Amino acid sequence: MNNLNSDIIAIKGVGPKRAALFHKMGIFTVEDLLLNFPRKYEDRSFICPIRLLTANRSSCIFCKISSSPIIFYSKNNVRIIKYDAKDPTGTITLLFFNQHYINPRLSVGKNFYMYGNVYQAGHRFYMSNPVFEAEDSEKFYTRRIVPIYKLTSSLSNREFNRVVKNCYEQYHTSIEEYLPEKILVQYNLCSASEAIKGIHFPESKSELKSATKRAAFGNLFRLFCLQYQLREIRRINSNISVADVDLDDFYNALPFSLTNSQRCVIREIYTDLRSGKVMARLVQGDVGSGKTTIAAAAIWVLCKSGYGCLLMAPTEILANQHYAKLKNIFDKFNIPVYLLTGSTCSSDKEKILMELSKELPYIIIGTHALIAESNQYPNLGLVVTDEQHRFGVEQRYALISKGIHPHALIMSATPIPRTLAMAIYGELDISTLSDLPPGRKPVNTYLVNSSYSERLCRFIHKIVEKGQQVYIVCARIGKILDNFSEEIQEDTTVIRTVYEVADDLRSRFPEYTVEYLHGKLSSDKKEDIMRQFISGVINILVSTTVIEVGVDVPNATLMIIENAEQYGLAQLHQLRGRIGRGGKESYCVLLSNTKSPESLVRMKALERNSDGMKISEEDLRLRGPGDFFGNRQHGLPTFNSITKYLSQSIINSAQKAATLVMSEDPNLKNAENHNLKLEIESLKNKLQ
Ligand code: ADP
Ligand code: MG
Repeated sequence: MNNLNSDIIAIKGVGPKRAALFHKMGIFTVEDLLLNFPRKYEDRSFICPIRLLTANRSSCIFCKISSSPIIFYSKNNVRIIKYDAKDPTGTITLLFFNQHYINPRLSVGKNFYMYGNVYQAGHRFYMSNPVFEAEDSEKFYTRRIVPIYKLTSSLSNREFNRVVKNCYEQYHTSIEEYLPEKILVQYNLCSASEAIKGIHFPESKSELKSATKRAAFGNLFRLFCLQYQLREIRRINSNISVADVDLDDFYNALPFSLTNSQRCVIREIYTDLRSGKVMARLVQGDVGSGKTTIAAAAIWVLCKSGYGCLLMAPTEILANQHYAKLKNIFDKFNIPVYLLTGSTCSSDKEKILMELSKELPYIIIGTHALIAESNQYPNLGLVVTDEQHRFGVEQRYALISKGIHPHALIMSATPIPRTLAMAIYGELDISTLSDLPPGRKPVNTYLVNSSYSERLCRFIHKIVEKGQQVYIVCARIGKILDNFSEEIQEDTTVIRTVYEVADDLRSRFPEYTVEYLHGKLSSDKKEDIMRQFISGVINILVSTTVIEVGVDVPNATLMIIENAEQYGLAQLHQLRGRIGRGGKESYCVLLSNTKSPESLVRMKALERNSDGMKISEEDLRLRGPGDFFGNRQHGLPTFNSITKYLSQSIINSAQKAATLVMSEDPNLKNAENHNLKLEIESLKNKLQ
């Protein structure tokens, strides 16, 4: 048992109460804590002479307290303690708000390092609620590059830093290197232990840079090695024998003719299926590009060859929609289609499973319920997972393990650029649907600020009066109470919550049915509300981003995204894809008061573009590749905040290095790869 797996309670300064706070953030072991990288850094290493301070910027100064404290109250009765301080270049006033005692350490004549935001009134500088350290104290919160961690309420960044420090002191000797020596040398990387130190206690910008480079490289390298292994494992011969079929028979059963890219992708799949190897293919295509038809084609080929097929969707509603569509097609071929979800009663379920036979083809559409341990599927030939990003990698494998290596088809509605897709889905082959079925109207998209509120209300009214429906998307469910001035200072945009917006609309439109939906509701409740929305009972649905992926509500024609600056481009595009699914003119309004030029550029890109792949390329250009790896939508193992340090060149070199090591020693038997083998096994276990 490795030391790093110890419970965090073993760290000095962590008792049961603090441990519980860390648990809330998903930090359970020493290793979790050491690998929890700061979300950003503040460079407090420069000591600024008072005369050279700049207003509205946080700075670090070295000063002597020059007056006794004075206490007074502001207009709204906030208690303020005031000190004067000086350095050889000038004077400054220090204000402490809402502090209930005078700190005896801040006595006249003593020297301190102070760090805080600087204000200016006339010629006078002020600092409010600075953090301070005496001149002879250890550099901890001033005079260095200070990591800022993601926090939870009741745990301050200062305490967090302290715990990480204790943790590092107790455990740093247990940090083992897993990168082979020659890779470290060839790519000029620091050791694992140096990287952990440099990330939590960087002494210089260059140390921080080499630490983050190493951590990013290491993370990718591990992933690429694992993908290499999975690729080898699945390059096995398939014992599923696929018949020589005429795809036109299938095409003729469809109510429309296929797009060119649908035809190409179906060809690719058919070639895979006949290749004698087990297929593992990802089909990526924009919302509405017709992926279900691709799935149906693959299913048809397998059924024609006498096998059973499973199609797994992330929610019951989607499973129902797929069931209805596929039943329509496959009834024509007399192939039975079953629906098996969490709400299928056990006698029905048993009946379905009883009916499956080794000799006859079948199709089962369902949710997670499909992978229940006890279910057995005779003669399983193909497993399709739809809207793949809602499933983790682990569920993908659980499903594949159901059969004797069935073929696997994975559908994703977040198309990403090819080089990136190959890195993220390294163990899969990839097909891309590049065009949409004809006759689609792009969604009219507008970026506005809250001065448009009244007009938007009139617009909502107009849409609902036409008998159509509205989605409102909010970034938060309820108010988050945050005690930390640090966090509050940063977050200047007001975020309207699901509850606030729903209340607001209910009082404005008492005659309409307004409902809300968010991830904290039970899944029964969520499905119930979604069903009511589909059936048109609900006029306006206020929701977080949980609105079902891929659900068809052709009657929903307006979506308003509140605080649109809070989302990535791909996510905004995904959200927008929920509307414009019928033939009607539809509208997406991005509501934001942000002044940030980056956010504005991002949202404007959405006004112009309706092609998911183009948007994704734009996203890559604007934000770098890191976010794609950090994005849980791809179902990758947790890639923490290190992702923002990824660059295309680190991706390329990690990929090259992984290929080199794995091709020389595929089973990692050599002594120099021993730790790497353990590391990859532990990564694999995390996935299972
Ligand atoms: P997604 O890629 O988002 O899963 P779907 O498979 O749900 O897309 O398809 C969206 C809609 O387009 C469905 O109603 C489907 O019947 C229809 N569709 C799919 N392919 C074509 C096509 N080639 N021509 C016309 N309509 C199509
Ligand atoms: Mg779909």
